[in-house]
Amino acid sequence: MAKSYDPNNVFARILRGEIPSKKVRETEHTLAFHDIQPLAPTHILVIPKGAYVDMDDFTANASDAEVTDLFRTVGSIAREVGAAETGYRVLSNCGTDANQDVPHLHIHILAGRNLGRMIN
Ligand code: C5P
Repeated sequence: MAKSYDPNNVFARILRGEIPSKKVRETEHTLAFHDIQPLAPTHILVIPKGAYVDMDDFTANASDAEVTDLFRTVGSIAREVGAAETGYRVLSNCGTDANQDVPHLHIHILAGRNLGRMIN
């Protein structure tokens, strides 16, 4: 059973072209764009075009083609921006305890500086 999805969340509106984004890449199932409040010199968000709330919803309900496209796009962008050599962080905040702000699955790609340790 898919999670309840808010069709008016900000990323749904970006996908519909109702609000602008600085596009990095678009594929059949995936959109990538620059985060508007970057936490690193490179801060890109990669989202599925389908209506999925978070990683749990996505991996349970998306097709293999959508899942493959999303993760291949993440890796491909990391290589393209040079982060595959210097190192980078990939993360996705899911749900309440992670303080997920936008209820449409998004994967953050952070790179371009030493990101410190996430867990101390
Ligand atoms: O993972 P979380 O849900 O907390 O992060 C949401 C991210 O979406 C934030 O980094 C925020 O800057 C970004 N955002 C964006 N463009 C918007 C609204 C939010 O890049 N229009």
